[in-house]
Amino acid sequence: MENTAASDSHGSKGECPKDDPAIVKQAPVRRRRGHRVELGDTMNHPTEIGTLPPIGEVPDKMHAQVVRQERFGDPTRAFQIELMDVPRPGPREVLIAVMAAGVNFNNVWAARGTPIDVIAVRQRAGEPHDFHIGGSDASGVVYAIGDDVDRVAVGDRVVTHHGWWNDDDPWIAAGNDPMTAPSASIWGYNTNFGSFGQYCLAQQHQVMPKAPHLSWEEAAAATLVGTTAYRMLFGWAGNTVKKDDVVLVWGGSGGLGGQAIQLATNAGARAVAVVSSDERGAYCESLGAVGYVNRTEFDHWGVPPHWKDAAGQAEWTAGCRAFGKAIWGALGERRNPNIVFEHPGEATIPTSIFVCESGGMVAICAGTTGYTAVVDLRYHWVRQKRLQGSHGTNDAQAYAYNQLVIDGKIDPCLGDVFSFEEVGRAHQEMEAGLGAEGNRVVLVGAPTRDLGRTE
Ligand code: NAP
Repeated sequence: MENTAASDSHGSKGECPKDDPAIVKQAPVRRRRGHRVELGDTMNHPTEIGTLPPIGEVPDKMHAQVVRQERFGDPTRAFQIELMDVPRPGPREVLIAVMAAGVNFNNVWAARGTPIDVIAVRQRAGEPHDFHIGGSDASGVVYAIGDDVDRVAVGDRVVTHHGWWNDDDPWIAAGNDPMTAPSASIWGYNTNFGSFGQYCLAQQHQVMPKAPHLSWEEAAAATLVGTTAYRMLFGWAGNTVKKDDVVLVWGGSGGLGGQAIQLATNAGARAVAVVSSDERGAYCESLGAVGYVNRTEFDHWGVPPHWKDAAGQAEWTAGCRAFGKAIWGALGERRNPNIVFEHPGEATIPTSIFVCESGGMVAICAGTTGYTAVVDLRYHWVRQKRLQGSHGTNDAQAYAYNQLVIDGKIDPCLGDVFSFEEVGRAHQEMEAGLGAEGNRVVLVGAPTRDLGRTE
């Protein structure tokens, strides 16, 4: 099977990896492909963080970083470690012992309870839980499988992608993109039992082989941002990235941006990063960007003056033109971006639309700086530009991205690594834009860094 968790190419199924002291009492090799783990296999007590029971033995309780509504606010307060029931996999679900969990901006939103209260939304949909265990990136080992799981086996070393949907969704049954289905959700944000617990629950289609050459923390770092970037750059027919295209990447040194630069470069395109310091620009160049623009040299951000305000418009347009010239300077030629990779939103969309090449596309997956993104329709329609929303990933996109990681073509850009106790701090720093370039990761089952490589 191509690029699936059931592939034999990625590690020792059913065995306790010798380099993983996390897995305490070493179990005899037990192959359980295709077999459900019965509840009789469970133990009552949780293991300590950084340790795991023998593969396939599932405790009743686990430690998890939990968000509750009464704690909504700063992530350092919202996330608290609690002892929770280990969820049981239902049909087509997989229980994964989390070795490392990636940190993403979505759980800053979850901790703050805005723009949506994910707990209340789930309760309105009929779910009983009054808590949120987030975490949308995991690397780990499969510990149990539900009924009808046929592409993942207990003992597989895996990573997860964040696209979640109901298998029986009529939209999907009709052959449409699952990520545009009414039931489509972001795993570990919209859904519960993500990777900030010792065990997480995923749908089997989300589970993919872990790249053998990566450590647990490297493997957990980038799947969410990488697969999101893949969909933005290659998912929108008519405007997919091609050789020699110019791709402008906002936040080039951030989680999404670092992946976008590499994906575009790998496709033969020329990526120009936008950053807030020369150090970050140099980092983007190390990932393959041909150059960068330092956004702190401009001040025309945010909602532009109304079009009837001639003086304000002239000033704003001059700012946009100067920014466009800076892109040409970074490129070394007078070409406008065929694709603009957007996520800041309110602060930058007017500029993105302005500088985008005729017939090009601004693909946006977030509104980190705000949601009132004004588009001057004169530049939009006359130059026939496309403003494309993009969200999450589907299986085909995620598997294609994961194969690039397995093939060593994409670096997961590991940034700061945190302990399990520091989940709140990791999110607080992300929100404040602090810390090293790249993607933050929390160690969960892995007791130390640099474990988990099998080649
Ligand atoms: P990140 O690692 O924190 O990177 C964000 C980057 O944005 C920063 O590196 C920063 O770079 C840049 N930035 C900050 N303020 C800015 C401003 N005012 N103008 C322009 N750039 C600014 O975050 P991320 O993981 O890349 O995620 C970015 C956003 O995408 C978040 O809102 C996240 O929730 C969203 N997202 C959505 C999806 C989806 O499926 N829809 C998936 C992944 C992420 P400089 O300061 O160097 O410019």
